[in-house]
Amino acid sequence: MSALDRRRFLELAGWCTGSAIALALMPGSSLAAPRRFSRNPFTLGVASGDPTSSGIVLWTRLAPEPADPSALGSATIPVRWRVARDDRMRDVVAAGTATASPQLAHSVHVEVDRLRAGADHFFQFDTGGEESPVGHFRTAPDRHRWANQLTFAVATCQDHPSGYYTAYRDMVGNDLDLVLHLGDYTYEYFIGGSNRAEPVTGFEEEAVDLRTYRLRHTLYKLDPDLQAAHAAFPFVVVWDDHEVANDYSGLAPEFDSPSPEFTARRAAAYQAFYEHLPIRLRRARPEDTLRIYRRLDYGRLAEFTMFDDRQYRTDNPCGDGEALRCEAALTDDYTMSGWRQERWVRDGFDDTRARWSIVGQQVLLAELEHLPYEDERYWNDAWDGYPVARRRLLDSVADERVRNPVFFTGDWHSTFVNDLKLDFKDLAAPTVATEFVTPAITTGGDTTPYGPYYGPMVPFSPHIKYFEGDRRGYMKATVTRDELRVDLRFVSSVEDPNGTGRTERSFFVEDRRPGAVV
Ligand code: FE
Ligand code: CA
Repeated sequence: MSALDRRRFLELAGWCTGSAIALALMPGSSLAAPRRFSRNPFTLGVASGDPTSSGIVLWTRLAPEPADPSALGSATIPVRWRVARDDRMRDVVAAGTATASPQLAHSVHVEVDRLRAGADHFFQFDTGGEESPVGHFRTAPDRHRWANQLTFAVATCQDHPSGYYTAYRDMVGNDLDLVLHLGDYTYEYFIGGSNRAEPVTGFEEEAVDLRTYRLRHTLYKLDPDLQAAHAAFPFVVVWDDHEVANDYSGLAPEFDSPSPEFTARRAAAYQAFYEHLPIRLRRARPEDTLRIYRRLDYGRLAEFTMFDDRQYRTDNPCGDGEALRCEAALTDDYTMSGWRQERWVRDGFDDTRARWSIVGQQVLLAELEHLPYEDERYWNDAWDGYPVARRRLLDSVADERVRNPVFFTGDWHSTFVNDLKLDFKDLAAPTVATEFVTPAITTGGDTTPYGPYYGPMVPFSPHIKYFEGDRRGYMKATVTRDELRVDLRFVSSVEDPNGTGRTERSFFVEDRRPGAVV
């Protein structure tokens, strides 16, 4: 990083200097002058993720100089961690030392096990006499038990220059068990301007390699509202396209074929994603490949199945973007999830005993034919580009008699509530599952309306029971044995730093009755 780049990045991170000083003066922090660090290295906050009934992943990254990822050089640094039952960190139930290595940007991932089920826990890191903020998580209930209630939020599409994370500020006022994040956690685009008051400079080029993807995640993680949400709740995160590049499919970039350059670019982006998020690593090196599709139990009440719609998909049969459906789309040669993940999904639906089968995934599942503009015209990056794979997925839901399948979807920067059907063209076809498409946290800002283009299509798709294209926010879901309730939380603004959230309306899915009551 040049001196100029560094100075510009520091301008952006300027407020962060203030917060680090404030932290050092908080009671309980060590007042001894740190020998190893020029300033508190926990500038990017702390996070937890993927809770089980006995375990959790704890995350932080040492970044005393966030603008300069090489500031810590090649040192491997020991970082102590502890988990306690109280927020003053006195009743410690687990502790140890992890290492922050330069190969993984001095990130720390701790996989803690043997915790008590269904219990609140707090965690904290320290190194070189410096302490991190304290984070909170709740373990899942014992898998053989019923939880009375499960509450989670669903987030997606948080483009930083689009605006403030008003939605996360609203979210932290709740008592949530989890946050599902459905991708577009970061955007790779160059940043020419920002709807935020603080200048965002130093990002005039799009992210393409490990250094620039790391800086992108660093920029996002410096946001205080995002840090507060990560400190408050465990996240269950999957990526979509923009953590790498717009609308890619497997190893094929948009409008192009696979190449060694794109393969290397994708690997760098996946590594930076791992380095900045609290997820388990299933292979020795994140650059080999990162498996993010996974299942999490929430006692007998619910099961979360997280899809990866990006990494294994075949290239779009009818090309990228908006296009007429082609013959190839009606063959069996194409997959959205990859063949192995498809089998894994079906096997999971076969095995599940959970009352609610909740799927977190990226792109729109329901059909959206671009009528009245043109017959047989679809958005090919979504499941509409892979209609036979969608039919296989929904057949597996119906064949395995999944009791309450509910899909949560990201990507569209709009809100939809949909009945999912094996044949969307058949008005009499039964509804086999429910889909909620969650609004963007920020992407589009306050003034990009998606409604004027997509709204006129909706009356031609009666399985779409609710649509809103112009508002940002998130969804909050409350699950009991008898119903799943979704509160649609819209924010008043992402461009005004004092924006607020409110419930626009609520939707309900009753036990054994697929399709939301709107
Ligand atoms: Fe997006
Ligand atoms: Ca997307």
